[in-house]
Amino acid sequence: MAYSSKTTMVNDNGEVIPVRKSEYKQTFRNTVKTTKYMLDYVLKEKKGRTYAAAKVILSLYKVLPMVVYTVFPGLIITELTNARRIQRLAVYLGVLIFTPIIDRIINRFTGEYLQRTFNHLSAKFLRDYDYHSAKMDYESFEYPDIQTINERAFVTASNALQVVDRLCALLSALLGLATIFSIIATLNIFIVIVTLLIIYLNSIITKRLNTKYYETEKEMSKYQRYIGSSLMFVLHDIWFAKEVRIFDLGDYFADMLYNKRLEVNNIKIKNTNSSLNAQILFSCTNFIQQLCLYIYLIYMVLFRSLSIGHMTIYMSAVNQFAEIFNGIINSYLDLAKSGLMIHEFMQFMDMPLKQYETGTKEPVLDKNSIIEFRNVSFKYPGSTAYVLKNLSITIHGSEKLCIVGHNGSGKTTFIKLLTRLYFPTDGEILLNGVNINEYDYEKYQALFSPVFQDYSLYMLTFAENIALSNDPDKERILELCKECGLQELVERLLNGLDTNVFKVIDEEGFQPSGGEGQRMAIARALYHSAPIYLLDEPTASLDPMAEYEIYTQFNNMITDKCAVLITHRLSAVQLADKVAVFDNGHVAEYGTHAELYAQNGIYTEMFDKQAQFYRDKPKSEDKVDM
Ligand code: ADP
Repeated sequence: MAYSSKTTMVNDNGEVIPVRKSEYKQTFRNTVKTTKYMLDYVLKEKKGRTYAAAKVILSLYKVLPMVVYTVFPGLIITELTNARRIQRLAVYLGVLIFTPIIDRIINRFTGEYLQRTFNHLSAKFLRDYDYHSAKMDYESFEYPDIQTINERAFVTASNALQVVDRLCALLSALLGLATIFSIIATLNIFIVIVTLLIIYLNSIITKRLNTKYYETEKEMSKYQRYIGSSLMFVLHDIWFAKEVRIFDLGDYFADMLYNKRLEVNNIKIKNTNSSLNAQILFSCTNFIQQLCLYIYLIYMVLFRSLSIGHMTIYMSAVNQFAEIFNGIINSYLDLAKSGLMIHEFMQFMDMPLKQYETGTKEPVLDKNSIIEFRNVSFKYPGSTAYVLKNLSITIHGSEKLCIVGHNGSGKTTFIKLLTRLYFPTDGEILLNGVNINEYDYEKYQALFSPVFQDYSLYMLTFAENIALSNDPDKERILELCKECGLQELVERLLNGLDTNVFKVIDEEGFQPSGGEGQRMAIARALYHSAPIYLLDEPTASLDPMAEYEIYTQFNNMITDKCAVLITHRLSAVQLADKVAVFDNGHVAEYGTHAELYAQNGIYTEMFDKQAQFYRDKPKSEDKVDM
């Protein structure tokens, strides 16, 4: 693109982050740049070009009714007060009366096409936005500024075609202005100057108003995200419904929402007040313009023998002139105002997708492959504390590595770095001796079959949730359901594998329990059968028997694959080839279960504590209340 907005900034910790606070000014130059950017964006679509062409033709046509309404009433009066030719009168009247009808008919036929195209293109632009948003670097979620820009880019994407509408309004107004100007050119120049002066004053008021609107909208967007995405979600979504009821959080959050809405209202009222004040100023400036016009025209009629017909033409011409000129200024100011939003849209769409812009090498993972974390350190964006410190570990191609360690010791972060959700702060991660960033991002991601503790289920059918595609291999899914203990469930479901998950869009949908959901997530990972399985507490919602059964099944099914398993349940550890004990962001102990147990270190302590917990029978003094 011709205009490249700067899309990085350095934060207080010296980190380069992918956005910069907006310093956009509504100058003419910036307005031209942002308008051109958006116009190019629209015109790259074939439908965008036809939409623009139709709009231009309509803009040219719009001048016609404008001239008719300005000139014809005056012509009729002139005819009535002078020659009184019936035929001419009938023609003038006919044109005047039929113009609005013809106008409506043209609108009827073009309106549907334009609206349909507008909706179609808006959906397409929103898809561009959705693609970009879904590919944004995972770490972008750490920055509220980026989230604000993201939300506002959504608004701009849905209104992208407004730029064509506004430019065409401008074109139509400019043509109208030229026509009307030729009519009033014969009138006193003083009236024209007064009119232009008034329009100039009005434009200053409007510009100030627009800037104020923008500032308050920006201020409000922070609140709206809090209200819309957070509080509303908590109150009205099924995910929170249980706790909201049991902890009786309804009133608590409803009151919080109420207070936030009141705060938003206080900001909104600033806009209302500015708008009301501006209305008064507008009426004052218009009063001056009208006063000058009427005094002048009455003077001309009384003392300079101007005919009533011509007076009517001049009057409507000057009023039209003012209206058109105001239209031009407003169209420009609208473009300048939307320039602020477009600027943010540009920042968002031009934001580098850092992970996608890395290497292009093709990754391979087989039993001879080696994944190596070499002195990897990491701190989360915006945070000064290292979560991983000089971590080094090697995983072989068909090895099962189990990672254990206390909460917060960095296990999940390790998986996030391995899957390239974040870049290491220091050190490097290698696959077959090559830095993982040198591999094509999508191909690299395809190496993993993950099961996260906070797995996601989607509003798709059961089968689609496993296959994550709309063309699921149902036979294979049924087999996997057997392996993962889901067979009975599927048989019970009203539409079997085609049953929708959740009841949000289908009242016959089913609501999976935590354990069922987790089994589905496991079946999904097996279905995708990628070379590396990542299991981050995959059985936390399963009972110990089911867990043991799943682990054993799983182990049998992935014998030749690489797997990294994070778990607190040390029973699973015995299935692993190697165990790494994470402590405070580094590998404190490493070896087989037997080796580690013999070391009498952290692992032995963890294992014994857990084993004791299960072994200890209730003592006779431990009463059981029934
Ligand atoms: P574990 O999986 O071992 O429980 P994690 O890797 O999830 O540990 O977390 C390690 C540390 O990183 C914790 O102190 C946690 O609070 C911190 N942490 C996790 N995610 C973020 C984040 N997005 N931003 C800042 N700190 C985080």
